[in-house]
Amino acid sequence: MDCNAAPFFAYHAVGLMRRYVRFFALAAFLHASLASAQNPIAIVGARLVDGTGTVPVEDSIAVVEGDRIQAAGRRGAVRIPGDATLVDAKGKFLLPGLVDVHCHINQPPDDMKRYWLAQLRWGVTTMRSAGNDKPETVPLFRETRRGAFLAPRAYTAGQGFSVNGPYPGAPVFNPATADEARANVRSLKAQGVDFLKIWMTNPKFSPDVIAAIVDEASKQAIPVVAHVTDVASLHQLAELGVTDFLHNPRDQPVTPDLVAYAKSRKLTFAPTLANMESPWFYYEHPDILGMPTLQDALYPRGRQMLADSRRRDETLSSDLARRKARMREQTYPFIKAMSDAGVRIVTGTDCGAEASQVTPFGHATHRELQMFVEAGMAPLAAIRAATLDAARVIARSEDPDYGSIRAGKAADLLLLDADPIADINNTIRISRVMRAGRWVR
Ligand SMILES: [Zn+2]
Repeated sequence: MDCNAAPFFAYHAVGLMRRYVRFFALAAFLHASLASAQNPIAIVGARLVDGTGTVPVEDSIAVVEGDRIQAAGRRGAVRIPGDATLVDAKGKFLLPGLVDVHCHINQPPDDMKRYWLAQLRWGVTTMRSAGNDKPETVPLFRETRRGAFLAPRAYTAGQGFSVNGPYPGAPVFNPATADEARANVRSLKAQGVDFLKIWMTNPKFSPDVIAAIVDEASKQAIPVVAHVTDVASLHQLAELGVTDFLHNPRDQPVTPDLVAYAKSRKLTFAPTLANMESPWFYYEHPDILGMPTLQDALYPRGRQMLADSRRRDETLSSDLARRKARMREQTYPFIKAMSDAGVRIVTGTDCGAEASQVTPFGHATHRELQMFVEAGMAPLAAIRAATLDAARVIARSEDPDYGSIRAGKAADLLLLDADPIADINNTIRISRVMRAGRWVR
């Protein structure tokens, strides 16, 4: 055990119970505060990064009324209502809440609520669960959007279609025939899912089963989101009209032809880097691993794996340099080439994936957009990828109701203590988080 890790292990041993007590106390307080009406809130003096990718506004004012942004812009251009509660944000940085298009949250309902709150406290105000959700949990996702309890605005793809899992016992459909596939899609429609997920992993569904899933989804008006890591599967689905992709083709280097194809078809990609990096990142950053908000955002088994010093030593002493280089080679040139060409790259992390365990809610989304900058995107573009552009992918609209700080949009906000443009790693220097007009941190 090195000296950095020691406080973390001590914390882990004594802090668990206290943390849960604190956590539930907070949840009870937040729930109580839902009922009370409040005055408008004016956030004054922050540098405003509105999520659209445009130049930040110095010395801004953002006014929140109810669950909406009433106005936002430079001081002098925005009137502060007389009864507003003023929040002095001088020296701080105001961003839209983050959006994660690729999570999983197949947990018992009470645990789902707890992880959602943990995710929210990291400033992730919208999430999409991309498969492996049991039918009985689908109504909970709608409740997040009604504000029945405090959570990110959450969407689900229900069980999803996968030949092999992606882990033993995962709730998925594995149809053998086109007719069975269509029946499965109709049952997802009856459940009220928001999306339909297809894993294009090996072994693959036969082409007629894939075509039946996509065609029936279109008839039932359910958008399809697909896990794809090879060029042939990408073409197969894109030719059927699918545009919303998780991961990226890794079986061959990105080519100008592939970029042109993606652009012409308006394809979008959530490269899901955080899940690739998380096996080593938290061992390398015990300061982040030891944060109570990070521990709250992991499943118990993931916490255990990351607290296992032998596992850590093996990971850090293995061929880690080669693993890192390989991850970057498989993803960074793709991200750079696609985003330079205007193909939408957005934040999705596989946070909460049972098969991973070590990809936490919340922080993973920050790592994803930080790695977009490492891959060559400008900080403002990476922030847009994690806010407005990710919202556009989920909402399937160029002008979604959330994801930007504009008059009339949802008041989902992230206030930072340090400048994310100067250093993208500052996105985790969180001062406050607002969801639908209410401070949650
Ligand atoms: Zn996934």
